[in-house]
Amino acid sequence: MTASEWYARGREHVWLPYTQMKTARAPLPVASAQGMRLTLADGRELIDGISSWWACVHGYRHPHIEAAVRQQLETLPHVMLGGLAHEQAYTLARRLAGLLPGDLDHVFFSDSGSVAVEVAMKMAAQFWLNQGQRRVKFLCFKGGYHGDTFATMSVCDPDEGMHSLFKGALLEQVVVELPRDAAGEAALDELLGRYCGELAGIVVEPLVQGAGGMVFHDPFTLQALRRLADAHDLLLIFDEIFVGLGRLGDAMFACQIAGVQPDIVTLSKALTGGTLPLAATIASKRIHEGFLSDDPLHALMHGPTYMGNAMGCAAANASLDLFESEPRLVQARAISAQLERQLAPARDLPGVKDVRVRGAIGVIQFDRMAPADRLSAICIDHGVWLRPFRDVLYTTPPLIADEDDITRITSAMIAATRDLG
Ligand code: PLP
Repeated sequence: MTASEWYARGREHVWLPYTQMKTARAPLPVASAQGMRLTLADGRELIDGISSWWACVHGYRHPHIEAAVRQQLETLPHVMLGGLAHEQAYTLARRLAGLLPGDLDHVFFSDSGSVAVEVAMKMAAQFWLNQGQRRVKFLCFKGGYHGDTFATMSVCDPDEGMHSLFKGALLEQVVVELPRDAAGEAALDELLGRYCGELAGIVVEPLVQGAGGMVFHDPFTLQALRRLADAHDLLLIFDEIFVGLGRLGDAMFACQIAGVQPDIVTLSKALTGGTLPLAATIASKRIHEGFLSDDPLHALMHGPTYMGNAMGCAAANASLDLFESEPRLVQARAISAQLERQLAPARDLPGVKDVRVRGAIGVIQFDRMAPADRLSAICIDHGVWLRPFRDVLYTTPPLIADEDDITRITSAMIAATRDLG
């Protein structure tokens, strides 16, 4: 079937993500992908400037990942993880425990980022329930985003975010500004005193709030949250689904950059190098021990059918191999420096509120909501795939991007910004 045939026949039936189906522009049919490039059905080539929602850190179809997945397909594509074990999941869990700091040693697999956060929240709530304490609320932050399921929507920004229609219809929300200085820490300390015994934990995206607007904060914020969590006996959950696994360049994980050990970490997206869906919720020894009991009900009652899918785990092990054998962190730092240089001129363009770069994340923020379709169309004309949202045009390129790729991406971003002014 040609692209125009399958597209025309299927378009009435595919319900698109985050899309007003009545008015949205038609999506672009993609025929194939390789390295940095997407080849569209009409033959055009686009550089992917956002790594398919921040996942394809090694680019598309890296031969090492492809070979691992192919081999797994031929031996054991999938087997349930309840009562059965397979090498890829056990190897991956051991490797993640080795990579993460301290005693973050206990890995629970799932199949999407939202579910990994959902599991983290359930783990935290049950950690307290197992001790006879009913604590099912979470502290979360303005600008935060942690997924689209009911529980995860309850820890997203209720006003700014895309879930504002659900405000008041979710788990009770406790949302505050991130503490950015000593005064912010003191104010939060006071607030937490008032919630004594009600909160299970604190959920935060460490160092970069992604889908809430690509907003950065400093290690101080995370260190303050660790102090407050300790002082008020709360569990600290770092959602590293966006920034974890090399995106920030200085270390594999944001918690390492901040020098803070959370109680629970969530990972997904780059975990398989964007090849297959897989996610992980990793807990410290103390959390894991909170589930060890003679009471069967104290077990973690969660078990997605496809958890620890063998092909997903094979892809993730191959992805971790690539972090060892290819200089991804060095590449992320080089991308960062180039983004700094090449996005800086956007600061002087009309309509630009801020230009910021952290690791391999480059952001142009406008002084108003961005006309996403128009900006995106200009970037496509420049041979680059970007998907602006809210008031930002941003890039999160695959970490394999070379200098020419980044130059094309930043040129497209500047051209789109100029057009806006
Ligand atoms: N947490 C963070 C920080 C994210 O950026 C995302 C997705 O963008 C999620 C959770 C949800 O992940 P998924 O879309 O795989 O459910």
